[in-house]
Amino acid sequence: MAEEYGTTSCTENTAGETAGIIYRETDVIPDRIHFIDNRVKDASSILILGHVRPDGDAVGSTLGLYNYLKDNYPDKKLTICLGNYSADFKMLSCEDQVLHELPKNASFDMAIACDTSSRDRLGDFADAYFQAPRRICVDHHVTNPGYAQESVVEAEASSASEVLYTLLDPERISLRTAECLYLGIVHDTGVFKHSTTHKSTMEIAGILLEKGVSSSQIIDGTFYHKTYNQNQILGQALINATLELDGKVIVSLLSREEMDRYHATSVDLDGIIDQLRVTEGCEIAVLINESMYGDCKVSMRSSSTANVSAVASQFGGGGHVKAAGCTVHGKAEEVKKKLLPVIATAL
Ligand code: AMP
Ligand code: MN
Ligand code: MN
Repeated sequence: MAEEYGTTSCTENTAGETAGIIYRETDVIPDRIHFIDNRVKDASSILILGHVRPDGDAVGSTLGLYNYLKDNYPDKKLTICLGNYSADFKMLSCEDQVLHELPKNASFDMAIACDTSSRDRLGDFADAYFQAPRRICVDHHVTNPGYAQESVVEAEASSASEVLYTLLDPERISLRTAECLYLGIVHDTGVFKHSTTHKSTMEIAGILLEKGVSSSQIIDGTFYHKTYNQNQILGQALINATLELDGKVIVSLLSREEMDRYHATSVDLDGIIDQLRVTEGCEIAVLINESMYGDCKVSMRSSSTANVSAVASQFGGGGHVKAAGCTVHGKAEEVKKKLLPVIATAL
């Protein structure tokens, strides 16, 4: 049953649970730049989380929030937990504070999730999140059902890092917070080139630069930087790629054996899908890589109006109209066979 909370709605999500308050693009958030300050006021212990297999935006937004709270509320007990991510992100301030497991018997007054579209995407940290009496989410995924008590979900925004910036007091954003947010924006926009890069994105990036962020250090050091093995597996993925559906779709498969040959984990595959996406004539690019658990991680990108989020949703995943993913059981070839007919309907 839909219930109105001011300008925002409280709806029922697909799991049948009542969703919390969701502020979307069209909603006015009162005292927006103090959104986070007003929420954390009464919390003494705060858990900060991002999504599984954290990308630049997940790491940038969560560490950006961590640094903002640490700078402005030194007495609060902050805990940040994330899965494994690229070693390139070690340049960010307080990266050494990130835990990969929850501390034993920990409990929190408040939990804040960034860049995380669903409960599932919190992975092993989901229970700790839902045990916190106050739960907030800062996100930009169109598929976010509003699993938190209060969510800001702006699907047009470039990144969760951009959404988070607008919820913070700009005067109290330090250089180290600025670096995290800038990194998140750079990664989710593919260095300011995806269609989600708006005037506001560039304006915010400009303000962050004014705080002293070194754009070349972040862009070259974390986005374009590749290890030898990462370049090798990129080459393998490009060789494996085939054109499907009259050349409108490019699909590359990476087998478990190939992943092992290059000592690659999913973190090492960042950027491959972007290279596939720019293939002439292709509207959708797909990368399917076999995990260690008998399933495949699927990444999809659209360079037309095709909605890959709708395709991913049919396989239990989600994301954005032009960038989405899902995990599908089976070997890569089988997964490709399951996906292609659904992709065909999206063209
Ligand atoms: P990726 O291809 O992993 O870079 O993901 C592209 C976008 O889809 C990101 O915004 C992810 O958060 C989202 N995404 C990827 N995998 C999933 C999944 N299994 N469930 C929901 N969203 C996903
Ligand atoms: Mn992300
Ligand atoms: Mn994101």
